[in-house]
Amino acid sequence: MIDLGPLAQHMPEFLPGTVWLVGAGPGDPGLLTAQAIHALARADVLVYDALVGDEILKIVNPAAELEFAGKRGGKPSAKQRDITERLIELARQGKRVLRLKGGDPFVFGRGGEEALALVAAGVPFRVVPGITSGLGGLAMAGIPATTRDTNQAITLMTGHCATQGPEAVDWAAFARTGAPLILYMAMNNLPKIVPQLLAAGMSAATPVAFVTNASTPRQRVVVSTLATAIDDVAAAGIEPPTITVIGDIVPLRAALGFGDGRP
Ligand code: SAH
Repeated sequence: MIDLGPLAQHMPEFLPGTVWLVGAGPGDPGLLTAQAIHALARADVLVYDALVGDEILKIVNPAAELEFAGKRGGKPSAKQRDITERLIELARQGKRVLRLKGGDPFVFGRGGEEALALVAAGVPFRVVPGITSGLGGLAMAGIPATTRDTNQAITLMTGHCATQGPEAVDWAAFARTGAPLILYMAMNNLPKIVPQLLAAGMSAATPVAFVTNASTPRQRVVVSTLATAIDDVAAAGIEPPTITVIGDIVPLRAALGFGDGRP
């Protein structure tokens, strides 16, 4: 068990029969919070997502049961219901249930939905924030989320299921803000998103960066522009998990000395 030293006195007690919704950060175990490490050491059962890496699973209480609850086919909605039902069931068995998610549990991680289900079931829970990939991933790529010279705001948004139907996003409205767009889960829909941003008047020269597997040994950063982004993604074979950054903060990466040879 990892000794938290003087931090230990600040740790809440992980009570049996409760669920902790914990963020694991973008991947590097060094970016776990002390509360996440504390929870990993005490959990009776760990229910984890696909984005949680093996290195993090190595530091869980050796006596804990591990249950994978990531996406592997199946209908997403039914799957989510299965997960929340399982969390409730495990808590009612008197276990310390650790629900571990990539990044922050409340940022595009369905942690909010799971918390609502736990409240409805009367199961006590705690939320432990994590470093969200849309911010931590940028830092690891050498891209400041804000500087006074470039932007007064950033927009964290999902690119998934957001181009048509009832969930359609008004991309033009976001383009008009001028604030950098930081897109989660955008790889599949990029060919639909980029033309809408260009049609809204965003310059074709707008810098774009793709940060893949941020903070892990497989981290990769590809810099592009709105004009060439779709082709560059195909040519470079960029795959999820990737954060897409669109805006004038991207060139700061080079100014900070990050670039080829320094991922
Ligand atoms: N709760 C998570 C987000 C879950 S949605 C968080 O706060 O980070 C899944 C998306 O997150 C992925 O499609 C990708 O866009 C992003 N993501 C998660 N981990 C990442 C990583 N290590 N590198 C790049 N993108 C990542």
